[in-house]
Amino acid sequence: MSNCAIVGINWGDEGKGRMVDLLTGNFDYVIRFQGGGNAGHTVINEYGKFALHLLPSGIFRKGVVNILGNGVALDLENLWTEIEAVRAQGVAITPANLKISDRASLLLPWHRELDGLEEARLTDKKYGSTRQGIAPFYSDKGQKKTLLAGELFYPKALKAHAMDLLEWKNLTLQKVYGADPTEAEQLLAWLETWGEKLKPFICDTGRELRSAQAAGKNLLFEAQLGALRDLDYGIVPYTTSSNTIAAYAPVGSGLPSARLDDIIGIVKAYSTCVGEGPFVCEMFGEEAEKLRAAGAEYGAKTGRPRRVGPIDLVATRYGVQTQGATCIALTKLDVLSYMDRIPICEQYEIEGRETDEFPFPALLNEAKPVIRYTKGWNCDISGIRRWEDLPQAARDYVEYIEKAIGCRISYVSVGADRDACIAR
Ligand code: GDP
Ligand code: MG
Repeated sequence: MSNCAIVGINWGDEGKGRMVDLLTGNFDYVIRFQGGGNAGHTVINEYGKFALHLLPSGIFRKGVVNILGNGVALDLENLWTEIEAVRAQGVAITPANLKISDRASLLLPWHRELDGLEEARLTDKKYGSTRQGIAPFYSDKGQKKTLLAGELFYPKALKAHAMDLLEWKNLTLQKVYGADPTEAEQLLAWLETWGEKLKPFICDTGRELRSAQAAGKNLLFEAQLGALRDLDYGIVPYTTSSNTIAAYAPVGSGLPSARLDDIIGIVKAYSTCVGEGPFVCEMFGEEAEKLRAAGAEYGAKTGRPRRVGPIDLVATRYGVQTQGATCIALTKLDVLSYMDRIPICEQYEIEGRETDEFPFPALLNEAKPVIRYTKGWNCDISGIRRWEDLPQAARDYVEYIEKAIGCRISYVSVGADRDACIAR
């Protein structure tokens, strides 16, 4: 039996979905424990190419049970749309291989609406939200003002609860934002439509996981985003509204007593960041365009061009420590093959001083990257599957990062396809 978390070390989009899809062969359960439909986990396998938003990336493996834990933002409508789209590509999704926690809270249509209204109010100070309702949802959850998925089984009580929430939420919609109120029939029809479709999947997943644990099953916890987007430890306020770190996996999955044996941190061979906020190592101009094109760095959820930069050792080391990573998968090394020399952000310079320590968020805007260059390898490495076959300069680059971040790099990914990975 083993419990493993796969988590992002940086700003997200490190290739978590790709690594979960590869490694699920060894697991019985894959559990999403936080975040919502704002995720974009790209998986390419025998069924085709997918950008998964809420579905766990273990959904393609026969015999793997996928769970959406109590910590996720459960948007029934978007989840159903996603299930239909993935099914249309030949993937079986049934209550046997997808189970939704009855303790997951529902992301309601007004959360998406409020997300858009608040971003519009912020105008040029916006957070760069994906407008999926995530921040309004989690703040309502904190205020105990959402519905639990399991309430769908108790229609009378559900209706009464929903009407109380409606009365309260309409105060905000109308009096704070001057928007139209949500009508009772509208909300009840929404709950009826999507609730009926998804009820067969909703159950006490905590009990299922406790039995799985007792039976010695292997559990894989799949995170969304990365350490720097964590609500408590990230680049506040440019974070997401949930905890993206491995420490939250037991709580958000429904197995609060679980101990993690392995924490695989996913690091990209260079840096990318979607949306607003400080991004110290950011590259601009032609250099950035080239890297963005080489790595096809456009958001899986939003299509937005991702901001790019060299690998950031300061942020990555902090991410490794925050996640408690026991090993690293370094992805997209193949993307750097076109470079004659490879930039590395070694340190930050803040107020004239160079530092290895990731600073308090308020100081990030003043930090400047200290860049050093290392030799490139200048050849295609995407077909290589053995460590010893990588060019010396590529191995040197990997070993240099490993030393600087203080964590073993156990996997090096050299392509988006499932098998394009070197296990060391
Ligand atoms: P996630 O959100 O962490 O799952 O990552 P995304 O799926 O948003 O972004 C990673 C992107 O890189 C996807 O388009 C993957 O198909 C792609 N990818 C993952 N690993 C590799 C790799 O080693 N090489 C290349 N070239 N692409 C990769
Ligand atoms: Mg992504």
